[in-house]
Amino acid sequence: MLKLKNINTFYGNIQALRDVSIDISEGEIITLIGANGAGKTTTLMSISGIVPPRSGEIRFMGAPIHQSRPDDIVRQGLCHVPEGRRIFPYLTVAENLDMGAFLRNDKEGIRRDTEYIFELFPILAERRNQAGGTLSGGEQQMLAISRALMAQPRLLLLDEPSLGLAPLVIRQIFDIIRKINQESNTTIFLVEQNANLALQVAHRGYVMENGKITLTDSAQALLANEDVKKAYLGM
Ligand code: ATP
Repeated sequence: MLKLKNINTFYGNIQALRDVSIDISEGEIITLIGANGAGKTTTLMSISGIVPPRSGEIRFMGAPIHQSRPDDIVRQGLCHVPEGRRIFPYLTVAENLDMGAFLRNDKEGIRRDTEYIFELFPILAERRNQAGGTLSGGEQQMLAISRALMAQPRLLLLDEPSLGLAPLVIRQIFDIIRKINQESNTTIFLVEQNANLALQVAHRGYVMENGKITLTDSAQALLANEDVKKAYLGM
């Protein structure tokens, strides 16, 4: 479904990604783990067209997207939930969700998807008329994921959904990530510093160090890998 082949991405003269190749099949949850500054966020930004790669190829559903504009990439069904959530703070929860549906004009479908989201996250239903900026961190993360779902993505890119949240809220969000994957067959590419949690929900994983992929395997095998345990699982 998504294929990165030898991606090299730069910020000016600084090379952030080196020959990164990643393969994601439809229906999978794939995680990319790595230390601070390894290049995880840059990988997602290269995919969604925010920081296009200088060389290499990215294909989504068979079509090249590495030279496409971010909004065209969204139109093709690829949605990015950035780190730090970036919801619209002065719009209500309901208005934030409507913004996620801005490319759609099927009113009935939008209404149905909003109902589905309110079932997934009942707290958002309770807060539907409240300004996004007044929500708790966990609720804002739920809203950011929900807003992306309103665009009906085939592939959802999630950047550090656990960042800064309490353990109970993190658990809740990861349960929902699994549910979204299973119920709506949305493929998920999850970037996380919390490797333990990410590998528990993912089918497969990639490990990134200094802008390079150093290891890839099933999530189970990575959880059992001695090097991964030492470097990323705090064991
Ligand atoms: P974190 O979890 O801390 O966000 P990360 O794995 O997502 O880390 P990136 O944010 O992708 O890492 O950063 C990769 C490298 O690129 C780092 O060395 C970082 O300093 C550098 N970098 C990131 N953004 C920029 C930028 N806008 N300008 C210059 N260098 C940048």
